[in-house]
Amino acid sequence: MKEFISLIIPPKEQLDPAWWFLIRDDNVLVQQTSSGVSIPRVLNPIELGLTVLRQHYLGRLDGCHCYAAEMAEGATPPQGMNFEGLRKIYGRLNEDLFALAGRALQIIDWDRTHGFCGRCGSETRTHATERAKECQKCGLLHFPRLAPAIIVLVRRDREILLARARRFTTPMYSTLAGFVEPGETLEEAVMREVKEECGITVKDIHYFGSQPWPFPHSLMIGFTANYASGQIALNDEENIDVGWFTPGNLPLQLPSEMSIARMLIDSFLRRQQFSDSLT
Ligand SMILES: [Zn+2]
Repeated sequence: MKEFISLIIPPKEQLDPAWWFLIRDDNVLVQQTSSGVSIPRVLNPIELGLTVLRQHYLGRLDGCHCYAAEMAEGATPPQGMNFEGLRKIYGRLNEDLFALAGRALQIIDWDRTHGFCGRCGSETRTHATERAKECQKCGLLHFPRLAPAIIVLVRRDREILLARARRFTTPMYSTLAGFVEPGETLEEAVMREVKEECGITVKDIHYFGSQPWPFPHSLMIGFTANYASGQIALNDEENIDVGWFTPGNLPLQLPSEMSIARMLIDSFLRRQQFSDSLT
């Protein structure tokens, strides 16, 4: 992983080519390469024949400046480049740039949807030193939206609980996940979500790791938990199927290797392999 430093105040002058995350609608401009896609690295988007509607400085990636900018509707990509959705470039763009593309999209989306104050309706302006939009009349600060969601791998001895969610477009099975409600702790959200989705009670909830999930502005907070009690009761609105799976009997389709869902599953499989090797 390269080192990224998040910054608000842009350099006075841009002297070297920078990474430009150029957004049109919900798509980002990518350059086709032999092995996938990359992000254009130029001094200014003018070089690509593109005009900027709004822009935010993101910071430095290994010393190279990074910007997010919105293009006009209907802006034409230069030859060899395309505007593509994040899901389409997932796995084709290197991890550091993908993370920044997600960040850029969220910041641009927040900027264009917070032009007016939610309290008094007056116009806002971008704060000079903080990632915030400030109401010019009442001073209320509007920060980028971030929706925390828990994601949990539930274990029962040699089995894990996986669900085929109704929202999945393919027969993929994944760990359970859901948004955190106001006033709830993360552990309470884990308990509630598992109970709601399949009627099972869990215990021994432990933090695993987290992952920004820019679809559109979530932060996935991963946990492991052990089965405590209950029988699977399918919640039809959420899932098509929920079941217990052993390492030798996993569903054919699992989430992408870049996702925290898959990291949770793979971490379980590695541990299981290790404990099997001891017996
Ligand atoms: Zn206001």
